[in-house]
Amino acid sequence: MNLSPHFTLEEMTASNEAARRRLDNSPSVAQVANLRRVAQILEAIRTQTQRPVVVSSGYRSPEVNKAVGGSATSAHMQGLAADINCYPYSPFDLGRLIVKAGIEFDQLIQEGTWLHVGLAAAGVKPRQELLTAVFTKDLLGRTKTTYKAGWFPK
Ligand SMILES: [Zn+2]
Repeated sequence: MNLSPHFTLEEMTASNEAARRRLDNSPSVAQVANLRRVAQILEAIRTQTQRPVVVSSGYRSPEVNKAVGGSATSAHMQGLAADINCYPYSPFDLGRLIVKAGIEFDQLIQEGTWLHVGLAAAGVKPRQELLTAVFTKDLLGRTKTTYKAGWFPK
């Protein structure tokens, strides 16, 4: 099902982790409506860059979000976020372009190798937050992710 000219519901709900663990990753009607809004933003990014936008994660059910180690308050669970790449832009440059073009967002997060684009719920004022993920290892070698306010080049 198409959400917009270049983005489908299938790619916005695809999850290797969900498939592997046989977890349900079906959005509700309200979440599909949110995914349509995200798709419109991705269209705007595509128009700006003149390049395909590749979605690595869109909607995540609470179970899937937990399985992939997502934040407990992740906008992915509302269908309000997408993790994207748009070659040859780095996440840093892509985020900068989104800001410069005045494309709507609630949060842009540089997540290392991808960019997280989050929207505010309908009717809620977007915070326009810019965050950079910082990855550190704890004593057991597990990766911990924290988020620093600001936009730092990688
Ligand atoms: Zn994300």
